Amino acid sequence: MRQTLIVANWKMYKTLAEAEEFIERFPGEIAGISGMETVICAPFISLARLSVLTERTTLLLGAQNMHWQKEGAFTGEISPLMLRDLGIKYVIIGHSERRLHFNESSLLIKRKVASAFNFGLIPILCIGENWEQHSSKETEKVIAEQLFGALEGLTVEKDILQKMVLAYEPVWAIGTGTPAHGDEANAIAGFIRSLLQEKWGEVSEKVRILYGGSVNPDNITEFTGKEEIDGALVGSSSLNVKTFAELIRVVFSERRA
Ligand code: PEP
Repeated sequence: MRQTLIVANWKMYKTLAEAEEFIERFPGEIAGISGMETVICAPFISLARLSVLTERTTLLLGAQNMHWQKEGAFTGEISPLMLRDLGIKYVIIGHSERRLHFNESSLLIKRKVASAFNFGLIPILCIGENWEQHSSKETEKVIAEQLFGALEGLTVEKDILQKMVLAYEPVWAIGTGTPAHGDEANAIAGFIRSLLQEKWGEVSEKVRILYGGSVNPDNITEFTGKEEIDGALVGSSSLNVKTFAELIRVVFSERRA
């Protein structure tokens, strides 16, 4: 049984004061929720403070990116060692906004995934097709290229690899208010699992696959209610305490029903 995972991606939103206010209020809003993981991927500058504020809560923290090297002359970058040092558990890698705006290549993403594992961080690897690829029915081809581009040749034990999280995020659904259809997302998640099965056998049954793209409290169960989908990566609906708490509560109620 894979544990449900809901990941907030705050992107480049929230000052430190705003992040603190959210984290101070949020645990009260989701009191009584158990048996699922909630991760907040905050901007780097807030992580040190939030790691103190979340100490006595069930909330986990994630980063939105990282460099692959432990340390070095890489101006402006943050290393996996620095994240681990703060007790950060997860790191988003290969988000489509980084692929698009920062030209992140498969090779770079592969290095980051390998490095995350080396430093005991759990990568949340994002994959997904853009609208053009979607319209020309290239989704499966793109997914396979991105998945193997990031994972092929990784020398990681299976019991570590299975901790990985994959986020299927159709680029056309991110921040547009137009999510994928639940059945469509479930079919792609199933396809991703079949690719994992081909290469890494039973690891495929343990890896959690999330859906991301315009998820909100009203549509979340269309995704989390599906067999192959283990949770969600949530952008804009994670920025408001009340909205995100409602989304978590909806998922929790559905799991118990
Ligand atoms: C995301 O940032 O990964 C995302 C899914 O954003 P949104 O929920 O706003 O579409």
